[in-house]
Amino acid sequence: MAKAAVKVPAPLRGFAGGASEVVLEGSTVGEVVRALARANPALERHLFTAEGRLRTSVTIYLNDQDIRFLGREGAPLKDGDIVSIVPAIAGGAPAPRRKAPHGRPRPNAKSSRERAFSREELSRYSRHLSLPEIGVAGQRKLRRAKVLLVGAGGLGAPAALYLAAAGVGEIGLVDFDSVELSNLQRQVLYTTSDVGRPKIERAKERVEALNPGTRVVPYPQRLTAQNALDILRPYDVIVDGSDNFPTRYLVNDAAVLLRKPDVYGSVFRFEGQLSVFDAERGPCYRCLYPEPPPPELVPSCAEAGVLGVLPGLIGILQATETLKILLGRGTSMVGRLLLFDALGLEFRELKVRKNPRCVLCSPRASQKGLIDYPAFCGVPDPAAGPSERVVPQVEPEALRAELRSHEPPFVVDVRGRGEWEIGHLPAAHLIPKEELSERLDEIPRGAKLVLYCRTGVRSTAATRLLLDRGFENVRVLRGGINAWAERVDRSLPQY
Ligand SMILES: [Zn+2]
Repeated sequence: MAKAAVKVPAPLRGFAGGASEVVLEGSTVGEVVRALARANPALERHLFTAEGRLRTSVTIYLNDQDIRFLGREGAPLKDGDIVSIVPAIAGGAPAPRRKAPHGRPRPNAKSSRERAFSREELSRYSRHLSLPEIGVAGQRKLRRAKVLLVGAGGLGAPAALYLAAAGVGEIGLVDFDSVELSNLQRQVLYTTSDVGRPKIERAKERVEALNPGTRVVPYPQRLTAQNALDILRPYDVIVDGSDNFPTRYLVNDAAVLLRKPDVYGSVFRFEGQLSVFDAERGPCYRCLYPEPPPPELVPSCAEAGVLGVLPGLIGILQATETLKILLGRGTSMVGRLLLFDALGLEFRELKVRKNPRCVLCSPRASQKGLIDYPAFCGVPDPAAGPSERVVPQVEPEALRAELRSHEPPFVVDVRGRGEWEIGHLPAAHLIPKEELSERLDEIPRGAKLVLYCRTGVRSTAATRLLLDRGFENVRVLRGGINAWAERVDRSLPQY
């Protein structure tokens, strides 16, 4: 028996009594991970399937090595080993192959007719030009470069600003959201007066104001399997700043099919991840996470929260890796996964290997094109309108009337405690979504039930869970507490 420290990541800590590290004894990795799950039953279904197999959406490392390459659960332990559980996290905030002589696109093939730098450019980039690793030749590469940012949110905002400042010639931006007040805590492209405006419009103005030499190409649309290859194709590097698993897998798959590097970053609460996926030279995202976690186990940034500076930091690291790729300098993050913990101010690095059985990037790949990503991730198609959701909904005004009737429904607030403190419906019972499956006995069987969250996303997932567990007559408050605050009780804050 050896004593090993098991590192529990933030998304799973709530299911392990809040501990970030637990020291356990065992002779193999499987023994300590299963001991951890036994001691924390709520954690078990996050790590293991109903059949007791380790989920493919959770990767386990022994020190800096993936256990899939060390005999899986049978990997032997010695004293002082560190076992890290690394779940897929989505938070942030889409052909034919273009062949170059060496099998990859050559974004920076030199044009003989390229114009010289203007006096203004020489001054603007003087701190780069004096670096021998960049110089005039490197700066030209940046001016010729085209970078696509998927998402102009927490990760995309700092990445866009620094890439433009550095002199990247063209930045494509994919985003269809409008600026919300709650974005401003981290999305530094936008100001208070931008609230309500389309992000992409404001981002283009702001980035081009920073550097008129950078052209911003806006894509005010959702990245889908239908448009992804066309949108990604003209770009040299793809920066994934998306905030959901369907888009992450879509970006990865399109980048692999088009043979482009995918600079990956994601954030959750106080923790971030960074890597570069480039199937030509190393693993892809699917090599690391063959499948997404089940949707009911995935909290989004909106519900889990995120430290505002964290996407700033990870987004700037994504910009750093992008510049290195464009310049052909330094040691890239291909095959390496960086884990950052802001609370401990700790950077850790793990090795990511190419999965010899990867369905997408291995020689025996079975997937030759893009697929249905919402279905693959088990989530409702975001492109489908609210009327197409299968979960029944109740309008705020109708709920108010029902609450005043002789038979008021039992109302469950599935948000987090911090959100409950911002404001809640008077008759509501707080059961955060992640505790729901453990606290079903607090919900009266046979009663009319209404679930709500901030806008309706979490409560829809929670309603599905209740329906699966045999509850009937469950509805979701349409638009969540924000709609209630707008239409029924204006004394409640919207957030
Ligand atoms: Zn792969």
